[in-house]
Amino acid sequence: MPNAYFNVQEPENEPYNSYAPDTPERSKLKQKLQELKSQEIEIPAIINGKEVKTGRTADVVMPHNYSHKLATVHFCGEKEVKMAIESSLEARRQWAGMPWEERMAIFQRAADLVTGPWRYTMNASTMLGQSKTPQQSEIEAVGELADFLRFNAWYLARIMEDQPYSPDGMWNRVEYRPLEGFVFAVSPFNFTAIAGNLPTSPAMCGNVSLWKPSPEAIYSNYHFMKLLQEAGVPDGVINFLPGEGADVGDPVLESPHLAGLQFTGSIGTFEYLWKKIGQNISKYHSFPRVVGETGGKDFIFAHNTADVDAMVVAALRAAYEYQGQKCSAASRMYIPESIWPEYREKFLAEVEEVTYGDVEDFSHFMGAVISRKAFDKITGYIDYAKESDDAEIIFGGGYDDSIGYFVEPTVILARDPKFKTMEEEIFGPVLTIYVYQDKEFEKTLELCDQTSPFALTGAIFANDRYALSKMNDALRDAAGNFYINDKPTAAIVNQQPFGGSRKSGTNDKAGSVPNMYRWLSMRAIKETRVPPKEWTYPYMEPEKAEFIEAEEE
Ligand code: NAD
Repeated sequence: MPNAYFNVQEPENEPYNSYAPDTPERSKLKQKLQELKSQEIEIPAIINGKEVKTGRTADVVMPHNYSHKLATVHFCGEKEVKMAIESSLEARRQWAGMPWEERMAIFQRAADLVTGPWRYTMNASTMLGQSKTPQQSEIEAVGELADFLRFNAWYLARIMEDQPYSPDGMWNRVEYRPLEGFVFAVSPFNFTAIAGNLPTSPAMCGNVSLWKPSPEAIYSNYHFMKLLQEAGVPDGVINFLPGEGADVGDPVLESPHLAGLQFTGSIGTFEYLWKKIGQNISKYHSFPRVVGETGGKDFIFAHNTADVDAMVVAALRAAYEYQGQKCSAASRMYIPESIWPEYREKFLAEVEEVTYGDVEDFSHFMGAVISRKAFDKITGYIDYAKESDDAEIIFGGGYDDSIGYFVEPTVILARDPKFKTMEEEIFGPVLTIYVYQDKEFEKTLELCDQTSPFALTGAIFANDRYALSKMNDALRDAAGNFYINDKPTAAIVNQQPFGGSRKSGTNDKAGSVPNMYRWLSMRAIKETRVPPKEWTYPYMEPEKAEFIEAEEE
C-alpha cells in the first residue's frame, strides 16, 4: 500500500525532430528505414503475452511500393478471441487491484521508450507501412503517441484527486474502479497514435483491453505492442488480435464480459458495432460504455476579408498532408466570388509545386494512399466528377497504381453546393470548392452547416471580427474542433481535445479528462463517525398541549 501522496508532474508536449538535411536524426531515421526494409517479419497475435500463429495469413506491403513485402500477419478468429477473453479476465484479477500509480508508471515508461530507444522504429515502421512522410510520421507515431501516454497518466492522477464534500460527522469518498469485464479497442489505419491510445487509455484505468488493430496499419501497431511488452505491461492486460473486422469483432461482441467499446474508424463500421451491441444487450453483465470517433467532411469557410495567403497554406496542408487521409482533412471549401480569382491563382500555383512518391525520398510532400480499396474508392469519386456537368476538375485528377497507390492532389470546382464530393467523406487528396456570391454569406453559412451529416472539424477565415463572430455562431454545431484563421487539422493532445459530434462520433475527446472517465466506474463511499441510535425523527414527537391551546385561541 502506498504510504504517501505521489505527485505526477504535468507533462509537456513532445518536441518533434525536423529531419532537415545534415541533422543526425535524419541519418538515424534513414538507417532505420533500411534496417526494417531489409527484413521480412512475421506478425503473430499476442495473447497472454505469448505469440500465437494461426496460419491464416496475409501479406503486409508498402502502399507506395506494393511489391515490397514487409511482413506476414497471422489473422485471428473465434478460437483466438475466446483465448484472449479468458486470459484478459484472468489478468484483470491482479491488474484491477494494482495501485493506479504503479499502472501509470508502466505507461509513462512506454512514453519514454517511444521518444527514446524506439523513436526511429515507431517513425520508420509508420512511414513504411502507412506511407507517411518523415514529418507526418514524427508528429503522430512519436509525438502524439507519447503525448497520449503521458497526459492520460496525468489526467488519471487528477481524477483520483477529485473527491466529494464531507460535512461534519462523516467522510465521503469516491473510488474510481475499472469497468467489470474487458474493453474492446478497435483502431483505424491512419494514425499509429490513435491505435496506441485506444487500448492503453482504458488499461491505465485498470481495465483489460482486447486490441484489434487495422490490418492496414499492422506493421507499426505490432512494433508498438512489442514496445508495451518491454515497458512492462503484464501478460493478458492488452491482448493483440490482428484480423479482418467481423472475424474478430463478432465473437468479441457476443461475450457477456464486454464492458466497453473504444472505437475509431468509419461511420459504417461504428454503426455495425453499435447495432451488434444493441442486439446483444441483454447478454451483457453491464451496459457497455460505447465511445466512437468516426468520419468527417471538414470545411474551410472564407469571408471576403480573409487573408488569402494564409488560407492558401492552410488549405494545401489540410487537404493534402497524408494524402487527405486524416479524419480532420479539409475536403470542402466555401469562397466568396470577390476573392476567388486571386485565391484560385495563388492556390493552384502552390498545389502545382506539391510532389508525391516514395516516402523514403524526403523531398516529397505526399506518399501513396493506403490500399487498393482506398485507391479505387478515391478514383471513383474523381471519375464521377470528371463525368459530371455539376463540377469541373481544375487541378489534378490523375492517378497511377503501377508501383504504388498514387493519387494526384486534386481540386474540384463544384457548381452545385450539394455536389456528391461536397457531401461525402472521400478520405483522399481531393478538395472540392464552392464559390458563393458575397451577398449570400449568411445563406452559405447555413448551407455549410447543413451539407454533410458529419461534424468533426472546420475552419473559418476572416479579418473582420463581426464576420468571425457570425461564422462562429452559425457553425457552432458543425464541428467538434473549430479553427479560426488556421487549418482544421493537427490537433495536439492537451491543447485541442479532439472529437466530433453528429455522425462524427460520440465526441468523448481522445486524450482528455472526460475520455478517461469513460473507462472508470465510480464507487461512492460514505462513512459516518457516530451513527444515530434512534430511528424516529423530531417531527414525529407529540405536540405540547398548551401550545395547541394557545394556537386555537
Ligand atoms: P474502418 O472503419 O474501415 O476500420 C476501422 C477498424 O474497424 C479496423 O481495425 C477494421 O478492421 C475494423 N473493423 C471493420 N469492420 C469491423 C467489424 N465488423 N467488427 C470489428 N471491427 C471491424 O476505418 P479505417 O479505414 O481504418 O479508418 C478511416 C476512417 O476512420 C475514416 O472514416 C476516418 O474519418 C475515421 N477516423 C476518425 C477519427 C476521429 O477521431 N474522428 C480518427 C481517425 C480516423
